[in-house]
Amino acid sequence: MIVKPRNQPLDIHIIKALQRRLPHALSQEPFLKEQLAQFLAGFTGEKELDYVLEGLSFDFPDSRIIQDLRLAVGANHVQIDTLALTRKGVFLLEVKHLSGVVRLDTVNCQMIQLKDGQSRTMKDPFGQMSTAGRKFRNWFTANRIASPPVFQLLVFTNDHMELDAASATGFVRRWDVIDAMLHQSHGQPDVMDAAEIKELGRLLVKHHRPQHPHYQFGKYQSYHAKVNPGVYCPRCGEYILHKRATGWYCGDCAKTRQLAATSALTDFALTTAPFISCREAKAFLQERDRHIIYRTLEKTGLPRTKNNARVIHYDLRPLYLNLT
Ligand SMILES: [Zn+2]
Repeated sequence: MIVKPRNQPLDIHIIKALQRRLPHALSQEPFLKEQLAQFLAGFTGEKELDYVLEGLSFDFPDSRIIQDLRLAVGANHVQIDTLALTRKGVFLLEVKHLSGVVRLDTVNCQMIQLKDGQSRTMKDPFGQMSTAGRKFRNWFTANRIASPPVFQLLVFTNDHMELDAASATGFVRRWDVIDAMLHQSHGQPDVMDAAEIKELGRLLVKHHRPQHPHYQFGKYQSYHAKVNPGVYCPRCGEYILHKRATGWYCGDCAKTRQLAATSALTDFALTTAPFISCREAKAFLQERDRHIIYRTLEKTGLPRTKNNARVIHYDLRPLYLNLT
């Protein structure tokens, strides 16, 4: 049973918003394309694993699955791709969806992917797992809860990936994941019953802390200041739509777009700032009439806050947190 399904990673939404709104040359930069491809591949892999885990309750009765969990541990966070709560304890699954030839090198703490004649060096997944496991246990300590046994598995989800012969062991292929879980927990006593599993699942989901964009210090920081304003027509790619009584009108396709302003505000939240004032909205939506802006913002139903100068700001964060 899945108690928390996964959404598309925030990075995918940020990159797509940047690609829509950056000047053409910048929007085509290889960095953005590569990042998007990696996040999309990762998401595909996790979805493929979800398909295998649908059969988990046959071998692990009462088990519950939490996808894409992010917990605060002190000033840091721990991000878990897939977590399975079972009677034997908690399984943390680190999912990698890679193509080409992959070499796991635990001596030098790295993973190397060879693809299309190019080599890419990545962080050692076992090191990542060990950090995640430690932070996950610390979360229990910080919340004064006894930690159940924690089992961890590195799962490769691309069936066509080739593993270099010299690679380390200790990983599992997608289709073997339930067998590997049975093997890891074989002979271990049951530590939780159905009610305890349910309660822990509820608690973990309650403590989920969604990710927010890092506008100033994140990996996309050089792009954020360069986004184009305007309300966008998804069909024509045109930016300057004008507000009419019935919606936002695109002169190119002669269509009225009801939700175009909300999409533009979502892009603002993904690329520029989490809050917006009427004045900022006027500039970003490129609409001179402040009454239209005010009505547009009010219609979104977004929470309002006031800053020290008593200027009303609308909280745009629910717009991207609801994206799937
Ligand atoms: Zn159009």
